[in-house]
Parts: sequence; structure tokens; C-alpha cells
Amino acid sequence: MGDCIFCKISEGKISAKKIFEDDELLAFEDAAPQAPVHFLVIPKKHIANIMECSDAGLLGRLMFKAKDLAVLKGCGEDGARFVVNCKGNGGQTVPHLHVHVLGGRPLAWPPG
Ligand code: 5GP
Ligand code: ZN
Repeated sequence: MGDCIFCKISEGKISAKKIFEDDELLAFEDAAPQAPVHFLVIPKKHIANIMECSDAGLLGRLMFKAKDLAVLKGCGEDGARFVVNCKGNGGQTVPHLHVHVLGGRPLAWPPG
């Protein structure tokens, strides 16, 4: 998608601190971290949001990778939050499917 920030990151047209990459998925540090650990995992293919995703296998691999990277980032002991915002009511600001992983401090619940 021409004007999608996360497509541009996955194509290398915008730089990001990448922490994992394979043929299908990319993980990189969030530009405005909300916790000591805050990174995003995305499919390289443009999918606007989770409701537009018809590939159960991809969703599984996306979440599994988020979990593995959370452990690699040191969240295995104390835990982390795995968030997928979707459209307006979900608070999604970048319309390219992504999983937030936040950790390194206790996080309040419920969200505001
Ligand atoms: P959303 O609100 O869509 O769930 O989250 C989008 C996230 O993308 C935000 O946490 C925001 O800080 C992050 N973000 C937006 N633009 C960029 C960017 O250009 N680079 C990186 N690394 N993160 C970004
Ligand atoms: Zn995109």
C-alpha cells in the first residue's frame, strides 16, 4: 500500500529499529514507547486490521512470534501485554495489522 507507514517500514523506505524479520513477519520498536518494552509485530503483507484478516495461520504465527519475542526481551518472568487495536473504537491509528507487546512495568486494567 503506497501511503502505509508500516508497509514503508517493511520495504525499508522508512527506518525502524528492527528486532526480528523473516519472509512473512517483521518486529520493530515502537517509535513512542509506552513501557520499557514496547515493540510491534506486523505481517509484511498489507492487511488493514484484524477484522480484514482471513488467514488463521498467519494470525497464529503473528501472536506466537509476539510471545517468543516478549520472552527474548526479558518479559518471561513478569509477563507482558499483547494488544491488537482495531479501527476507531479500538484506538487503531495505523491501519496495518500489528500486535503491540508492552512489558517491563505493571500495566493498569481496564484501559481508559
Ligand atoms: P495503533 O494506535 O495503531 O494501535 O498503534 C500504532 C503504533 O505505531 C503507535 O504506538 C505508534 O507509536 C507507532 N508508530 C506510528 N508511526 C510509527 C513509525 O513511523 N515508526 C515506528 N517505529 N512506530 C510508529
Ligand atoms: Zn501497510
